[in-house]
Amino acid sequence: MSKNTLIIGAGGVGNVVAFKCAMNKDTFGSIILASRTLSKCDDIAKNIKNKLGVIIHTAQVDADNTADVTKLIEQTKADIVINVALPYQDLTIMDACIATKTPYLDTANYEHPDTASFEYKEQWAKDSAFKDASIMGLLGSGFDPGATNVFCAYAQKHYFDEIHTIDILDCNAGDHGYPFATNFNPEINLREVSAKGRYWQKDENGEGKWIETKPMEIMQVWDYPEVGPKDSYLLYHEEMESLVKHIKGLKRIRFFMTFGQSYLMHMKCLENVGMLGIKEVEHKGMKIVPIEFLKTLLPDPASLGPRTKGKTNIGIVAEGIKDGKKRKIYIYQVKDHQDCYAEVMSQGVSYTTGVPAMIGAKLMLEGIWSGNGVFNMEQMDPDPFMAEMMIQGLPWNVMEMQ
Ligand code: NDP
Repeated sequence: MSKNTLIIGAGGVGNVVAFKCAMNKDTFGSIILASRTLSKCDDIAKNIKNKLGVIIHTAQVDADNTADVTKLIEQTKADIVINVALPYQDLTIMDACIATKTPYLDTANYEHPDTASFEYKEQWAKDSAFKDASIMGLLGSGFDPGATNVFCAYAQKHYFDEIHTIDILDCNAGDHGYPFATNFNPEINLREVSAKGRYWQKDENGEGKWIETKPMEIMQVWDYPEVGPKDSYLLYHEEMESLVKHIKGLKRIRFFMTFGQSYLMHMKCLENVGMLGIKEVEHKGMKIVPIEFLKTLLPDPASLGPRTKGKTNIGIVAEGIKDGKKRKIYIYQVKDHQDCYAEVMSQGVSYTTGVPAMIGAKLMLEGIWSGNGVFNMEQMDPDPFMAEMMIQGLPWNVMEMQ
């Protein structure tokens, strides 16, 4: 029977998800793209019709309002909701899925607009409600989190008896020509990179502890295949919270992301003058949130597509033991920004997030990934996901290292 797929969020990532679902319409059936601003959905639908000849439907929704989302799910008879709006909407959309017994998928953990905590706590707390409704909720099906979690599960399944350390390495070597812009939602991006760093390590008693660092305190130069050496800074990233629970034998996990000097200099300046603030300030009798105002000034990430050149390279380096011997492997994926634009009219960061979202949803709709409750990606069998990556535009490599 033909399926109905509801995508919520019509930004950079929503555009890619809509395109890729349309390219896989035998699985996704009737596709409805809904967002706060209807015209953005209509523009994407028009581009999909022109480029692929596929008609998708559009709708307006306020995803901060559970009743509004519930009504839309009922009207569209959705078999799955792909949430690629902002992390602020995760809980309201999950509640609408529980109310309508509809499977759910997202790409980023819930965040409260007033506190940047990057935790799965609130979403994991919905596990029993998802079980009671006999539905699956798949959390973090983007690239990181997402494909990186699957890489870890793949390494665990095929390459190790025990993984001791994991470094997640995220490089975007794309150049959009602006002195300063972010490749996905500026508010979410700047909150993430201006926060304190954190990594997880077991102490001498075998007890896992989070170790906090100052923002950008730890840097290493990593030589990314097809990109070259880049300064990579230690950040906290949400997938580590679930990976420490699910990867057996783990003793340390860290996350590194590349930043150019121009980006860091602008960010420091903006931070020093208070433009990254997430609390309301009074301005000429009006209340404004500095980082929201900054978002208005910065280029829309969706507009970077045609001007971004260069590659992304995101992967994991895992070290551990196989058959009593030490082993170290690097699993990575390289994507060219301009290839992404040629295919789906988006730059590489939206592409590498949107394709894994589509793949996760495809495996759920096809019943290949299933279960009742709320899951992180590494809890699923990695093989079908890795196989889909190869054919859906995200081919990967495994390198044995010394
Ligand atoms: P954008 O800001 O480009 O798009 C967000 C979309 O959500 C916009 O269309 C926006 O509507 C819509 N939206 C916001 N609030 C609401 C609401 N209340 N109701 C309905 N729609 C709403 O973001 P991106 O596309 O760059 O990112 C999408 C998601 O992907 C984010 O959660 C981000 O954190 C995540 N992400 C995950 C990555 C990963 O690898 N896991 C990497 C990159 C991003 P409007 O146009 O009206 O503002």
